[in-house]
Amino acid sequence: MNAIGRLAPSPTGAQHLGNARTYLLAFWSAQASGAKLILRIEDIDSPRVKPWAAEQAVEDLKWLGIFWNEGPDVGGPHAPYIQTQRVKLYAMALRQLIDNGHVYPCVCTRRDIETAASAPHAGDEGPIYPGTCSKWQVGDRLPEQGNYCWRFRSRDQPQVFVDRVAGSQRCIPKDELGDFPITRKTGEAAYQLAVVVDDDAMGVTEVVRGDDLLVSTFRQLELYQALNLRSPNFAHVPLVVGTDGRRLAKRHGDTRLSLYREQGVDSRNIVRWAAASAGLSIAEVSTSDSLETMHDKFAAQFNWQLLSREAIVIDSEAISFGD
Ligand code: GLU
Repeated sequence: MNAIGRLAPSPTGAQHLGNARTYLLAFWSAQASGAKLILRIEDIDSPRVKPWAAEQAVEDLKWLGIFWNEGPDVGGPHAPYIQTQRVKLYAMALRQLIDNGHVYPCVCTRRDIETAASAPHAGDEGPIYPGTCSKWQVGDRLPEQGNYCWRFRSRDQPQVFVDRVAGSQRCIPKDELGDFPITRKTGEAAYQLAVVVDDDAMGVTEVVRGDDLLVSTFRQLELYQALNLRSPNFAHVPLVVGTDGRRLAKRHGDTRLSLYREQGVDSRNIVRWAAASAGLSIAEVSTSDSLETMHDKFAAQFNWQLLSREAIVIDSEAISFGD
């Protein structure tokens, strides 16, 4: 089976240093194992999507010297996949889940429905849904259009997987996570559904992403099983955090890649920083190495075993990527 990795930026804002590190690790891992890489723009969270952010993310990746191999037929061989162009696939998977009794319409106006459109990052995990609407069965009347989301019935079987970074993981979704929304009230696919359908359709075999999505993986495994799909391997990368231990964000100062680019920062300095943070030896690269050579050298050394399980703490006010 061909190995395939993916980069999956959400164009809901600028990409920052933490995103860069995750993308670089995904890139080196793919290069090291001879896997192909695809780029997918996760733009289904329409209220939060910024019109400039997808193009900027693509520029950020190119600036870092990251390239991807595959793209859809539409838009050329290296054009990214765009989730908003793939909604029919999500609708088909939803139909299958409805017909097989895996989901029910939920009229509860809880925050988790609003936030479900995007990947749930740290602090987004709400309380466990109490199952208020779960008595619905296939064939029962549907609530009024626009008033409900589709919610997945989590099962009380343990879900287990071995993460390449975080190790053995186990959870009983029904007890520990509860039922979760897979669409919004507009009927559009939410993150969990879209990501599973896409990773399967694109033949993704290795998912590399921030470890704040570790918990979501259990939900996604539920969906893989309900849809009879084979799940990929997972590598959940510790986040880059500020000195207060919180996920890197605006309050920590500006670490947008586009800003560094505008300031004329040499992207090789960021690549070296990310390599050092992943346990790779930067002694083997020289400052005169091209970006491409640098990537070849880091990919050759890359090994998930070297990666620390601890968050990477940076003082973003003090950190400098100048020469
Ligand atoms: N698009 C998501 C994000 O940028 C990542 C989702 C994933 O990798 O599964 O937060």
